[in-house]
Amino acid sequence: MRRYFAPLVMVSVVAGQLAAQSAVVIRTGPLLDGRGGSRPAATVTVFGSKIASVTEASEAAATYDLSRYTVLPGLIDGHDHIGWYFNKSGRFHSGKDGETVADETLAAAGNAYTTLLAGWTTVASPGASADAPLRASIARGIVLGPRLLTSLQPLSDERLTPDSIRALVRRRKDEGADFIKIFASASIRDGGKQTWSDEQLRAGCGEARSLGLRTMVHAHSADAVRAATNAGCTQIEHGIFVTQTELDLMAQKGTYFDPQCGLVFHNYLDNRARYDGIGNYNAVGFASMEQALPMAANVIRMASRTPHLKLVFGTDAVAGAHGRNAEELACRVREAGQDAMAAIVSATSLNAEALGLGNEIGTIAAGMQADIIAVDGDPVRDITALGRVVFVMQGGKVYKHP
Ligand SMILES: [Zn+2]
Repeated sequence: MRRYFAPLVMVSVVAGQLAAQSAVVIRTGPLLDGRGGSRPAATVTVFGSKIASVTEASEAAATYDLSRYTVLPGLIDGHDHIGWYFNKSGRFHSGKDGETVADETLAAAGNAYTTLLAGWTTVASPGASADAPLRASIARGIVLGPRLLTSLQPLSDERLTPDSIRALVRRRKDEGADFIKIFASASIRDGGKQTWSDEQLRAGCGEARSLGLRTMVHAHSADAVRAATNAGCTQIEHGIFVTQTELDLMAQKGTYFDPQCGLVFHNYLDNRARYDGIGNYNAVGFASMEQALPMAANVIRMASRTPHLKLVFGTDAVAGAHGRNAEELACRVREAGQDAMAAIVSATSLNAEALGLGNEIGTIAAGMQADIIAVDGDPVRDITALGRVVFVMQGGKVYKHP
């Protein structure tokens, strides 16, 4: 027991108001630290919202005995449309379809809870203005959900001048955006051609960088990916038409790359009747997504073999996909041949780094936020184990346990 008193005493000295809290002791089975390291068993001690220590496995009494499970950091989805949902008629909610703000709010809160219980303790939404109150409500603990980062409303208008782009970036920062989302190309359903010029991209990504904000750029065509990378944007999304040239360029510039493998496409195709006829969800759009599937796996196969490329993880979860986020990791390993541990690291410590939170989340180590999950099985051998989450702790609070 002495081991557990040590952090308690230390923390009580530095923060008297925490002295009433007691340590939570977790006995783990295999422990994956989120940085590629593992040990066969361990004891993780949590104090307040943080991990106080990770020590040898012990027979001492534990608050949670997870010795039958694999324990790893809470998962991080870098691209999640947390507010998207199907309306009362079972159709994708878009525009004026009779839904009220209350309907939208409750649906988003439901998505957030579903996502948290599936083991995703942090997500980045790129984005919607309604993310701001959702983010605040989750932070206050009145809605249960993943720690939420958002770009608020994305920047996409092709007619914006460089000056108006810079002004919009500053406005998003004032409105509380955690990062800036930019559309540099059309949707995959519209061919994915570059829509913002090199000059517009330099204005958007340059202004954001000067304000200390990261940029997440939607880009499908090779041209758009090259332009955004050369403009110094932080992270490129999708990139379905990239070649080895763009992958090498991103690796050289240190640009994070977030391609999707399968969940977003399968989810649209599985739910075709719920989307069909809305905007670019039409025959051409669905055919494009069907054709994208083998290309998507191939992009990830090439990306995961590109030296020094920072291949991060985002599902692009939309209506119908919330809580199924781990299927995207399974696709990466099974369809695209990514190493399972590398896939897990992409959704934990590497994603944390990409979000600018590398010193807080994504790793199980002393001093980090206590975002800890347990899964039934060994995800290094069977990646689908990440879909069997039995324990969820976020910021030291337990939301699910066996
Ligand atoms: Zn998206």
